[in-house]
Amino acid sequence: MKSNPRFLRILLIDFAVCSLAALSLSAGRPQIPSTNAGKEHHGVAVANMDPSVKPGDDFYLYANGAWIARKEIPADRSGINVFSDLDDLSEKRTSSLIEEAAKANAPANSEAGKIAALYNSYMDEAGIEATGIAPLRPHLDSIAAIHDKRELARALGETLRADVDPLNNTNFHTPNLFGLWVAPGFVDYEHYSPYLLQGGLEMQDRQYYVDGSDRMRDVRAKYQTHISAMLKLGGFTEMDARAKRVLDLEHAIAEKHRSLADNEDIHKANNTWTRADFPAKAPGLDWAEYFRAAGLDKQASFIVWQPEAFAGEAALVDSTALDTWKDWLAFHLIEDYAAALPKAFSDERFAFFGTVITGTPQQRPRWQRGVMLTSALLGDAVGRIYVQHYFPPEAKAAAQAMVANIIATFRKRIDALTWMDPKTKAEAQAKLTTLYVGIGYPEKWRDYSGYEVKKDDIFGNVWRARLFDYHQSVSRLGKVADRHEWSMTPQTVNAVNLPLQNALNFPAAILQPPFFDAKAPAAVNYGAIGTIIGHEISHTFDTEGSTFDDKGRVRNWWTDADLAHFNAATTRLAEQYDAYMPFPDLHVNGRQTLPENIADVAGISASYDSYRASLAGKEPPSQDGFTGDQQFFIAFGQNWANKRREASLRQQVITDPHAPAQYRAATARNIDAWYAAFGVQPGQKPYLAPQDRVRIW
Ligand SMILES: [Zn+2]
Repeated sequence: MKSNPRFLRILLIDFAVCSLAALSLSAGRPQIPSTNAGKEHHGVAVANMDPSVKPGDDFYLYANGAWIARKEIPADRSGINVFSDLDDLSEKRTSSLIEEAAKANAPANSEAGKIAALYNSYMDEAGIEATGIAPLRPHLDSIAAIHDKRELARALGETLRADVDPLNNTNFHTPNLFGLWVAPGFVDYEHYSPYLLQGGLEMQDRQYYVDGSDRMRDVRAKYQTHISAMLKLGGFTEMDARAKRVLDLEHAIAEKHRSLADNEDIHKANNTWTRADFPAKAPGLDWAEYFRAAGLDKQASFIVWQPEAFAGEAALVDSTALDTWKDWLAFHLIEDYAAALPKAFSDERFAFFGTVITGTPQQRPRWQRGVMLTSALLGDAVGRIYVQHYFPPEAKAAAQAMVANIIATFRKRIDALTWMDPKTKAEAQAKLTTLYVGIGYPEKWRDYSGYEVKKDDIFGNVWRARLFDYHQSVSRLGKVADRHEWSMTPQTVNAVNLPLQNALNFPAAILQPPFFDAKAPAAVNYGAIGTIIGHEISHTFDTEGSTFDDKGRVRNWWTDADLAHFNAATTRLAEQYDAYMPFPDLHVNGRQTLPENIADVAGISASYDSYRASLAGKEPPSQDGFTGDQQFFIAFGQNWANKRREASLRQQVITDPHAPAQYRAATARNIDAWYAAFGVQPGQKPYLAPQDRVRIW
């Protein structure tokens, strides 16, 4: 479902099983099998390779064959890969840090005290059962007391939260009527500005409501049953009639929504509305009351991502019966806090969102959900302890040095381009000059002193966390934007490009073996994490990056001639990927995956040059029987070890902007040095004649 062109990794989505945060971690108890038990090894994972395969016949299998043979996909997952192994490790570590904090008896107001209280309040199942739906009652009573559309506007305004992020995390979904994102402005790029996004649906995307396929019709029928079940648990009568009305309303909202493809088009999102524009352009909602209740009545203007959806949703507030809206509010309240309520609520939610929507039969164990919840709501507090334990200063320094070398290589490669206009090259160089590359953890930790965590009050703790997050976001409006701000926690196994900040984040949890090991040969680090760093850097000045300049402003700095040349040059890469057939009836979509495939080729090229430059003319010693160049490419290929269920792989091919992992490893065939390293000859399947190898950056 959700995919992100700016994320490095393919997400193995076992989605929305924890209703407290849209977390995409895979399920399963942490198990980190060590293939080198008892003996430390710093280098390529020889035990994961299949020496019976010739590297020039199938490089992916050569690098990963034994890993593939040895690994099994657990029953509660759609797939596994190197990232999910590290997710397990990160989760296991986070879990023990949280347990330590819980045992330490830290003062209630300290971060450790808050971590402990939050986790324990979630784990107190008996207490939660005994409390029942009492925490819901005052909120349900407020909804029941709504008498007119003005009070409805107030209630809708009170639910606004900072729960969307269309650019960094490509999160377009909020179940509330609208969602807020606070980030540097498209126009006023120096200050934090409010972005407003469409919302109102519990299911992730409008497709679930409007798609006419049998599968989606079935999902909708089950969704209606689910709404009814949740309302029953919340103490409502006449649930079936209410559920039908709620589904009809969400269907009407979905019809007003912009599609995912259109959502990702920045130029369609760049709409500034003044306060006066709202009643004029989107009549039907009492906007003055809405903004007052949301605490935004002082804000003069907003960036409205989907103007037509705002007009449509506001009109629905006017045209739909008040009682239907009240049922919609009640259902959303129950749904969005299901995980903080008795087991029957989270079981019912999982039965629909876990099993019906994603096909996952089994819910993750409670302790694991507790770790995820704590790590989401107190992300930086957990992250700060995480890096103290698992990210030494030497690792940070070594990674920073690699980044500096790779940026220097990009400078040279851009200067050497024959197709790019000199003015465009100067713009690309300017972007490299202002690029902020965050390594390991943020420069400034988030301050949680305003977040009150109470013992034995999971419902209140979640409620206050979301409100705290919202108030913190609103309080930044109009202030000077911090370009060094992070959008991922250190314990996240991923990397991200933040276009409005011209910044990259490489969290501590990805800066560890097999991606990065300060004790491993340079060849291995450049082959593994170096190619990933290069991948992310190249996004800052490709067709995506060309939308934003060195200040993070929306300004296209490519000439038309640059674009035309780039498109022609990249067509051959698209054709290469079009020819890949994961199934006899399904080929990879070369256009859909093109920006990512370009970034992969650029990443290997830049990292390889940087690796060679780091040797200062001296050939490194062999290790494990491999030359330096061989280690570089094997480490690269091992980034992409993965196994995926057929349905999941098919879904990826259709919806993901990243190609399946085996083809990402295979793209080494575009690099001349790969042929030399392994003696790959014409006649071998992946062989490309020198003129057919794609060189873009
Ligand atoms: Zn990418």
